[in-house]
Amino acid sequence: METNSHYDAIVLGAGPAGLTAGIYLSRAKLKTLILDEGIVGGQMVLTHEIANYPGVENISGYQLAGIMKKQAKNFGCVIKSNISVQKVELKDEVKSILLSDGNTYTSNSIILTPGGRSRTLGVQGEDNFKGKGISYCATCDGDFFTGKEIIAVGGGNSALEEAVSLTKYASRVTIVHQFDHFQAFEHAIEEARNNPKIDFIMESKITAFYGNNNLQSVDIKNLKTGLINNYKTDGAFIFIGYVPNTEFLKEKIDLNQWGEIIVRSDMSTSIAGVYAAGDSTAKRFRQVTTAVGDGTIAALAASNYLNELKVKQKQLITV
Ligand SMILES: Cc1cc2nc3c(=O)[nH]c(=O)nc-3n(C[C@H](O)[C@H](O)[C@H](O)COP(=O)(O)OP(=O)(O)OC[C@H]3O[C@@H](n4cnc5c(N)ncnc54)[C@H](O)[C@@H]3O)c2cc1C
Repeated sequence: METNSHYDAIVLGAGPAGLTAGIYLSRAKLKTLILDEGIVGGQMVLTHEIANYPGVENISGYQLAGIMKKQAKNFGCVIKSNISVQKVELKDEVKSILLSDGNTYTSNSIILTPGGRSRTLGVQGEDNFKGKGISYCATCDGDFFTGKEIIAVGGGNSALEEAVSLTKYASRVTIVHQFDHFQAFEHAIEEARNNPKIDFIMESKITAFYGNNNLQSVDIKNLKTGLINNYKTDGAFIFIGYVPNTEFLKEKIDLNQWGEIIVRSDMSTSIAGVYAAGDSTAKRFRQVTTAVGDGTIAALAASNYLNELKVKQKQLITV
């Protein structure tokens, strides 16, 4: 068993935010460990094709994750995947992470990059057609539905904005919403209502997805009458919210009402030496590029913090 291994920085999460932080920290000659509860790459590995990462015309998420991992390792970063975090202690100058296997890792700085997940409907067939007609990201996948008829589920601001943005590609977008009104700003509702490519099915919800290899139809239940109709569709975009993977940070660090980590512009959090980056932080746009940008800023800010800490510790010794 490996106990009390000390690092300059520990990164929690090996998605694009965490891997980028690992690249910058280890290239700055800081002893860096990345820990991930799953496999390396985060949500990128769920992405069949990434076509909007600058400098790379087209790449699978799995491949891009592999390149980022190799870069980090080449600079000396240690990466451990499929671990299980039991306890994090962030407050003191020396932070510690206890894993379920009994190993404890300590560091002077922590970068939190646990990402998140889109809220799912949790209905029959949803898991089968993820990436095969069902998507949770208009920016990522809208282009694949050019000229197609699709469904958008949700009634908040982002659902309406995303539905409008999908009309750039799709020939028809049908918004399915469970209430008789939208929980969105008036201007967002107006824009959706005035768009000739958008139809509405209100007071209704999807109860099942069907298809062969790809999604072909959905069952939609009218919540007033209880009647279920089957609709043919080429795709369904689900915009019913986002869940950050921050349950383990409750009471440990400042989170907002949605559980997102509150960060300053240098990605610092409410605790000295603790930074956060990527989809788990409070922000509007969640992409590989934004995660990579956040990870860069967090790593550079953490490097500064570690340098200042070293100076402070030297001064204490010489006094
Ligand atoms: C289907 C799909 C398609 C997408 N397509 C695109 C696209 O085409 N272009 C684009 O730019 N973006 C796309 N995105 C969005 C993009 O993948 C995310 O914005 C990005 O991956 C977020 O990076 P992240 O590092 O913040 O978090 P994530 O990628 O979510 O990585 C977080 C990592 O942290 C780990 N973790 C969680 N909790 C813990 C813990 N307690 N301890 C240790 N590790 C933990 C997880 O296992 C995960 O590996 C897509 C997303 C999905 C789901």
